[in-house]
Parts: sequence; structure tokens; C-alpha cells
Amino acid sequence: MAAKIINGNEIAQQIREEVRQEVIYIKEKYNVVPGLVTILVGQNPASISYVTGKQKTAKELGFYSVQDNQPETITEEELLKLIDKYNKDPQIHGILVQLPLPKHINENNILYAIDPRKDVDGFHPVNVGKLMIGEPDFLPCTPAGIQQILIRSGVETDGAEVVVVGRSNIVGKPIANILIQKQKGANATVTICHTGTKNLASHTKRADILIVAAGKPKAITADMVKEGAVVIDVGVNRIGTTPDGKAKLCGDVDFDAVKEKASMITPVPGGVGPMTITMLMVNTLKACKLHAGIK
Ligand code: NAP
Repeated sequence: MAAKIINGNEIAQQIREEVRQEVIYIKEKYNVVPGLVTILVGQNPASISYVTGKQKTAKELGFYSVQDNQPETITEEELLKLIDKYNKDPQIHGILVQLPLPKHINENNILYAIDPRKDVDGFHPVNVGKLMIGEPDFLPCTPAGIQQILIRSGVETDGAEVVVVGRSNIVGKPIANILIQKQKGANATVTICHTGTKNLASHTKRADILIVAAGKPKAITADMVKEGAVVIDVGVNRIGTTPDGKAKLCGDVDFDAVKEKASMITPVPGGVGPMTITMLMVNTLKACKLHAGIK
């Protein structure tokens, strides 16, 4: 039986509307507006496009939003000063530094300088630690989006066998950490696979929920998937250009073959992708409420 194709755009839209309504409510009741700054260093086209998308969404949802463009030549010290300025700015609740940064800047020094209460990417060690002990303030955006996809698609995670392919700090490890928590929308048995895993298929074939974040086109083929599994494809791989000049994308899963075997599957594009920016907005709203003491 062909799988249900999960519509990430629709779920993202649903959550954005919830955020938009809450922004109206807290503005009326408490006179506060969530504020997000996105800091872009240099002119990397992909980074410009990501930052533009974040700013556009923030504006659509009624946020106060600041786009801060800095030249490629900015020093680490100058960037740290800028972070400090936004750490102290009461109108700004979320600080996002678009990665990657130029080679002469140590990314961790920058990310660790962000006030953890304004770390809406969820990458600061304080927030990583809080997630680990089950008391998160901010979940990293892509993994948070994956959890929302599962919850809002009615996928039971409690007791499910989850296999995650990939152990990066931004996707693999945090989604595993989220789904092992003894909480609603989690409480799964999680296995993490990586390039050191022997016989990848022996693990993936056991998965009720298979989450793939390897960054390798078609790393997961139909013979590696259990009949009826839920398959979440995080991968975004550029495999050429469409006739109208846009990047042609594919995921890490052999979509056409796997959709005949899975019960649900996310497409690329239109699956996990739209959730990432959406969860950034959720985190910024949360940061604003934490700051203002709103429950
Ligand atoms: P990453 O840092 O490159 O990590 C990839 C992980 O996959 C590594 O842990 C690697 O193992 C593992 N891996 C690679 N090939 C494998 C294989 N054949 N078998 C088993 N494990 C394998 O990538 P990432 O940042 O997590 O991103 C993963 C993918 O998701 C990329 O395509 C990226 O573009 C996409 N992504 C999408 C979004 C979104 O919003 N949709 C957000 C973030 C990332 P080792 O650790 O052993 O090297």
C-alpha cells in the first residue's frame, strides 16, 4: 500500500497561525512583541536566502525583526561585541547567527556568547544540557519540527522503535535526545546510526519510525525499510537545476520506492524543511514569554 505523504507545508502553516494568534494576544494583554535579530556575515547566497526566509516569516507573524548584515571582514571581537549588544537589547528576545561563519571566526566562541535565554537555535551548551536532562527551554529547530510532524500526524512514539541515521549536533543527536525523554510525544526506544555502524540495514529494518539525516542522496533504499514504517527524511541534497533555474533537491531516502512500503513519509522538498523556520518562530515567541514572565 502506498504511504500517506506528510505535508510539512500544511503543518508548518498550522503552527505559524497559532504563533500569529498568540503574538496578537500577548501584545494586547501584556504589551510585548517578540523580537528576533538575524545576523548575517558575508554574502553567501544560501545564507542570504535562509536569512531572508526567516525575516519574512518573522514579519508575517507580527514580530519585531532586525536583519543585521555584517561584512565578511568583521573580526571575532567585533562580532562578540555585536552579540553583547543584542544580549542587552530588551526589544530582542531571539538572536540567530546564520552559519557558516568565515574561517577566521571561531563559530563556537560566537554561539557560546549568546545569552542562553536568547538562544533560539538551541545550540548553546546550556540549552543542549537542559534538553539532555529533560527540561528544555529551546529545542533545536529542525528536531523540534520533526517531533511536531510526528505529533500532528498522529504517529505514536510511546514505546516505538526509532532509528536515527546521523549523529550531528543539529539533527541526529538532538532528535534522539528529544524522543528518549519520558514525555508525551516521545518515550521511544532510540538507536542512533552513523558511518561507524556495522550493517546499517539491520537497524533501519527494525524501525517503526525511521529518521534519516545523513546528507547522502538515496542512502536509504526500500529493502532497508520495514513494511508500514513512518519515514522522516531530513536530507536536503542539491542534484542539479530545474528547467526554470531553481535548485533540484532530493532527500536521503529513495522516495519513489520507499513510499510503496512505508505507511507515512515526508517528501523533499515540502516535508521537514518548512518546519525549521517555523520552530524558530515558536522559540522566539517562547523566549519573549520567558523574558516577560508570561506562562
Ligand atoms: P552532517 O553534519 O553532515 O551529519 C551527517 C551524519 O550522517 C553524520 O553523523 C554521518 O556519520 C552520518 N552518515 C552519513 N552517511 C552515512 C551513511 N551512509 N550511513 C550512516 N550514517 C551516515 O549533516 P546534518 O547537518 O545532520 O544534516 C543532514 C542532512 O539534513 C543534510 O542533507 C542537511 O542538508 C539536511 N538538513 C536539513 C534541514 C532542514 O531544515 N530540512 C536542517 C538541517 C539539516 P559520521 O558522524 O560517522 O560522519
